[in-house]
Amino acid sequence: MDYDVVIVGAGPAGIFAALTLADLGVSRVLLLEKGKDCTLRSQHHIEDRLCGWGGAGAFSDGKLTLSTDVGGNLQDFLEEQRLFELLQQTDEIYVAHGAPDRIFGADWVQVEALADQARLADLELIPNRIRHIGTENCIKVLERFRDVLTHKIHIRTDCAVSDILADPGRVQGVRLADGKRIDARFVVLAPGRSGARWMKQQADQLGLKARSTSVDIGVRVELPAPVLKSITDITYESKLVHYSKTFDDKVRTFCMNPYGEVVTEENNGLITVNGHSYAEKRSQNTNFAILVSSFFTEPFDDPIAYGHDIARLANLLGGGVLVQRLGDLLAGRRSTRKRMERCLTKPTLDDATPGDLSFVFPYRHLLSIIEMLQALEKIAPGVYSRHTLLYGVEVKFYSRRVDVSPEMESAIQNLFIIGDGAGITRGLLQASASGILAARAITARV
Ligand SMILES: Cc1cc2nc3c(=O)[nH]c(=O)nc-3n(C[C@H](O)[C@H](O)[C@H](O)COP(=O)(O)OP(=O)(O)OC[C@H]3O[C@@H](n4cnc5c(N)ncnc54)[C@H](O)[C@@H]3O)c2cc1C
Repeated sequence: MDYDVVIVGAGPAGIFAALTLADLGVSRVLLLEKGKDCTLRSQHHIEDRLCGWGGAGAFSDGKLTLSTDVGGNLQDFLEEQRLFELLQQTDEIYVAHGAPDRIFGADWVQVEALADQARLADLELIPNRIRHIGTENCIKVLERFRDVLTHKIHIRTDCAVSDILADPGRVQGVRLADGKRIDARFVVLAPGRSGARWMKQQADQLGLKARSTSVDIGVRVELPAPVLKSITDITYESKLVHYSKTFDDKVRTFCMNPYGEVVTEENNGLITVNGHSYAEKRSQNTNFAILVSSFFTEPFDDPIAYGHDIARLANLLGGGVLVQRLGDLLAGRRSTRKRMERCLTKPTLDDATPGDLSFVFPYRHLLSIIEMLQALEKIAPGVYSRHTLLYGVEVKFYSRRVDVSPEMESAIQNLFIIGDGAGITRGLLQASASGILAARAITARV
């Protein structure tokens, strides 16, 4: 064997698997990452945004959600108290490597009062404690992880894995894109959402069972920060769920960024919208996503293709992301550059095209988004203002969920699959925690 363990992907899942293996004394470990080292990644280069040391989280807002209900499905594998403890331990590792001390949403009296207010508005507040690392600090934390690991394991960046090698029933190692074979007793796959297509291809080749999940489609909302201040001061990010009046669809707020910025991102050739916020630098606005979850059964069972096509429409009409004042949307007219000049919310994203989102979204999604904004207005007056900005399309594609054991082992012996790429997690903390689970199981066998 060349190595005891080969890990594919240096996002949070892969990094935490490596940290845990190293801590538990397993040193014949190779971590392979197809992107660049974190110091060489640039937020302005599309190929660097999701790939490279640190994975998708590198330029993220770095919100660690310290709740068992948010950020993934690990609760399907671990009893609540054990998951809570695992998330605490994971969080402590972030703090030990430079994540700030402060936790938002820890004052339960205030959170309960907010939850009561939400109930009166047909909204459910998911209580959620958050540690906010901030975009400018994420890279520093990731560099610390890299520095610690450099002395303990082997790391190769700019090194894509093309295939997983397995004898029927047992993993053998991996083949690199340059054709080289690396033998290993254990392989841990942590390819993230950017590696979801590759993961699907490998799962199909290996005969692993996987099922499609949902796609979340919606808009990024931007408004003056004082509108949501009474909420964001307490919870930083509030996760609010609404079941839309007309369609009874689940609609939720997601990734709230007080005093943050709206940004574009590239998703398999499509330009979509997202948001983040710095720990120190502040804009005048707060942004958050409103997402509508869509599930399909038969004969159509491809939520990723559905989300793709809606995002493609926005790109077709606007050459990228569209922006519209809520007032224009409700009046049935497009936003134009002239109308945008009279908008009291000054956009933080320059390169969005003023347009008409009603040409993009199905009636079902558009109405659900409007009904969610009406519900939010009841707890934060000003949300339903004519000057609220809606950017489209924001879309969250989730990887197909691969069947794994509670130790994160697939049906192929010694092949572990973790993080967002396995469709098991959806956020930094749970992805990292899944790496710890796999590493502990492997250590017990090594
Ligand atoms: C803009 C943005 C903001 C976000 N903000 C937050 C936030 O505030 N809080 C939060 O909890 N979550 C956030 N997330 C989600 C979070 O980043 C992910 O949940 C997390 O990074 C998933 O970790 P992962 O290790 O599973 O996958 P990733 O982080 O995606 O890492 C996977 C890595 O594997 C590599 N890889 C893929 N295929 C191969 C291959 N064949 N060979 C070698 N390497 C390969 C990729 O290059 C990548 O670096 C955000 C995501 C984005 C995009």
